[in-house]
Amino acid sequence: MKKILILGATGSIGTSALDIIKNHSDLFTLAGLSAHKNAEKLCKLAASFNCTEICITGFSSSDGFSAGIKENVKYWGEEGLKNLIKNSDCDIVLNGIAGAAGLLPSITALECKKDLALANKETIVMAGLLVKKLAAKNGCRILPVDSEHSAVFSLIERYGKDSVDSIVITASGGPFRKLPKEKLEFVTLQDTLKHPTWDMGQKITIDSASLANKGLEVIEACRLFDVPAERVHVTVHPQSLVHSFIRTKDGVLYAQISPPDMRHPILQALAWPNFIPNNLEPLDLSKLVEMSFDRPRFEDFPMLSLAYSAAEKSQKYTIAYNAANEVAVASFIKQEIGFMDIPKITGQVLENDWTGEPETFDEIFDADKLARKLAGGYILQIKDKA
Ligand code: NDP
Ligand code: MG
Repeated sequence: MKKILILGATGSIGTSALDIIKNHSDLFTLAGLSAHKNAEKLCKLAASFNCTEICITGFSSSDGFSAGIKENVKYWGEEGLKNLIKNSDCDIVLNGIAGAAGLLPSITALECKKDLALANKETIVMAGLLVKKLAAKNGCRILPVDSEHSAVFSLIERYGKDSVDSIVITASGGPFRKLPKEKLEFVTLQDTLKHPTWDMGQKITIDSASLANKGLEVIEACRLFDVPAERVHVTVHPQSLVHSFIRTKDGVLYAQISPPDMRHPILQALAWPNFIPNNLEPLDLSKLVEMSFDRPRFEDFPMLSLAYSAAEKSQKYTIAYNAANEVAVASFIKQEIGFMDIPKITGQVLENDWTGEPETFDEIFDADKLARKLAGGYILQIKDKA
């Protein structure tokens, strides 16, 4: 029985992971779970699994909750999350926290010598090199959950790292794949949240529309698989059936194909290195009417080119890219700025000097903080002009 600790249990990844545990109760058991603010949902989920290791990070125990919630939540705040991980007897931590807040828990899990099933791509984008070093030192595995990276990971495991010439990650193209450039600056938050193929949290859905998600994934692929950005390509594949390809040195392309359901890569990470039959509908090839692959619209969606250029420069540039985008997206959600202000702000932040590779996690958090401050300043300028 594999014991699984789920961070971000109330989110899209977290609830899919809980569904897997429920459907494979002979193989997996829930060791604990966390959420940020949604205490009520978290307590309900915990009760349905009979689990008492519960953490809420967004509040403290002195905040006004009903007795039912206060009695049930065992850990509170950032420190509480650390203790949940430290005290856990789990075999693997699934990190489904959204955003940069996921980095510290990833570090704690690896420090506690736990394997890490990693949906939180920000961990790798911000700190890939140091996190991988920590995992190697403590003999832990980092198993990617992001569907593209899960696909590449399993293909590389099979064909060998030395056989790989390049990686091709697929992109759905998002809701604005065909929208003319001149209309992009007028899209609303609601338009942005209508993803054509994947059902995901708010932040990643907006990132999918701006292609920032693909940008983050290019960086994630470079860091996870030690490949320079020039050997990581993106192809727009609106059907989201091929999750990625590797091209081997003999020129052959190998693909991983499955329906667009995150329970596939989550199960793969939790079960690795075993293959466990899932309860999902297998892909019916007779219904595959179309599979298309196109060049991304780099000129119209600048977040992708900005990510490539950050990945080519240094880790600090990728930290700044992620931080600036997070701050800009939060401001777009509050409807303070427009959709095309997101790349504008990120570009402005990246114009600063971010040279130098961080040697400690503290340096990473410092760079993140500085980039957020700069992004906040550029947002104020936009608001002042409006
Ligand atoms: P959601 O927004 O659906 O869920 C986020 C989870 O993280 C919630 O449980 C939330 O708690 C918790 N959380 C939010 N902020 C904090 C914080 N500051 N500290 C601790 N916990 C926090 O996100 P997704 O599930 O969509 O995405 C999670 C991660 O997985 C992201 O990094 C995303 O890029 C990645 N990913 C997601 C995919 C998907 O299909 N959804 C696909 C591939 C990668 P609460 O509910 O209480 O706010
Ligand atoms: Mg992905």
